[in-house]
Amino acid sequence: MLRDARSRDCERVFCLGDLGGFGADPDGIWPLLRQFGVECVAGNYDIAIGRGDPDCGCGYSDPHDSEFAQLIYDYTRTHTSAAFARWMHELPREHREQIGGCDVHMVHGSPLAVNDFMWESLTDDELRERTTASGADVLLCTHTGIPWQRRVDDTLVVNVGAVGRPANDGRTDTWYAVIELDGGNAIAELVPFAYDWRAQAQEMRAAGLPAAFAETIETGWWTTCLEVVPPRERARGRFQVYRDALPDLSAQPAGRPVVPLFGSSVFPARLWIYTNFDCNLSCSYCAVASSPTARKRRIGFDRFTALVDEAIIEGFEELYVTGGEPFVEPAIVDMLEYASDRLRTVVLTNAMLFTGRRKRELERLSGRGSLVVQTSIDGARPQTHDSFRGDGSWARTMRGIEYGRELGLPLRAAMTETALNAAEVKELRTLLAKHGVAGDDFAVRPLVRRGLAEDGMEVTDAVMVPELTITADGAHWHPVGGDVGSSPDLLVARGRDVTLRDAKRAVVERFLELRQADGSLPRAYRCAV
Ligand code: SF4
Repeated sequence: MLRDARSRDCERVFCLGDLGGFGADPDGIWPLLRQFGVECVAGNYDIAIGRGDPDCGCGYSDPHDSEFAQLIYDYTRTHTSAAFARWMHELPREHREQIGGCDVHMVHGSPLAVNDFMWESLTDDELRERTTASGADVLLCTHTGIPWQRRVDDTLVVNVGAVGRPANDGRTDTWYAVIELDGGNAIAELVPFAYDWRAQAQEMRAAGLPAAFAETIETGWWTTCLEVVPPRERARGRFQVYRDALPDLSAQPAGRPVVPLFGSSVFPARLWIYTNFDCNLSCSYCAVASSPTARKRRIGFDRFTALVDEAIIEGFEELYVTGGEPFVEPAIVDMLEYASDRLRTVVLTNAMLFTGRRKRELERLSGRGSLVVQTSIDGARPQTHDSFRGDGSWARTMRGIEYGRELGLPLRAAMTETALNAAEVKELRTLLAKHGVAGDDFAVRPLVRRGLAEDGMEVTDAVMVPELTITADGAHWHPVGGDVGSSPDLLVARGRDVTLRDAKRAVVERFLELRQADGSLPRAYRCAV
């Protein structure tokens, strides 16, 4: 990196501290700093090593982070010579100088504290608090190790990155910054630097450092000390939580210490698509306020198929198609055919519209094992079901179930439990078994207080495992929140064309925000069997 900087005609090289703390050879940097005349300020690590402190001062509370941080600190301390530690002890805490007509302030963390993190996700006001404390034209920092730059008022703020660890961006490169200062103007260029990362990782493994450290070097994704990373920066990474934080994953054979949220039990690889919001019924407790007069919000065949294609690329393993009533959508059979050719697909329906043209079209899908028809049925007796869903609806739904059976499609059913129908669960189970819906293919789910429902369980993103849901309005945390009018709190990304990639990241970011607030994990609320 020092040679690279020279080749760019850099006149002076500054290092903003943390001379050790990740690699296998902390002492190796010292001769280089002297040979290249690098001007240094102290980082929190250098202060701690120079003073002989028992830890690095980062103050982690997560047990994983504390363990990893202590381990590398002890290693660095043991492998730093007394002479180098004494040299670190003498380093200034900051550097301020007029260069090229600019007042330049260099710190390790921020002007507020040596271990303050200047993340890109800080708001302008948070950044302004720091630039005001400095008062300089150019404020340079590091500490987080993730490079960025932004102007706040008249100050150019640059996090210059780190050359000892990649930036949680999936690249093995590390980063430094070249600042051009001339005539009172400052321009920063963030420079990726490719180096022999294989040798670095090998050296770390040979030194007995944990595999998790070497994996960061090899993959470009952070695997340790995640606790301090804000949701926005953390959601960009491939790994988001420690495996042990997820109860059902910690029981599996140990692999990486960190896992992605997506694909785990707390963010299943299940995609929901609302094809439309209008419905032939207007049930008294509809969680998404559907009815014959509801705003249709049709997603359309082209958007639907594009979502299916992207779902495969993004690693989704199953697709749930819902509405409103999906069979109100004219292209529904084509949509289901396209989806179930590519992904395990479940369509949620009241099964009342399997008549006429749709009935004939459905024949095309007969015997398709990859397409499950899940029907809502809310009582063993017609009068119970009809009291929620309208006169004659029970009989038509039962005929629909029977037609699905004739077509040889896998069938499931779900009942929304209320005080009125709770006593009929057993009777309904027996009845459905006679129609080919048995065992776990029948589920009873609690009523939720969303949409038109005035009673029921309160569900929010804080207590409910996310199941990414796409509607014509955008991306939502969970299918019970698909109606943006009655559940604006569960919208995670607005826009008809939101990508699944962006929506997944928005979900992870919100999950981490919620989790960082109280450390709890949400529970699953399953709309489907
Ligand atoms: S609960 Fe289902 S069937 Fe009833 S109005 Fe809502 S979407 Fe339609």
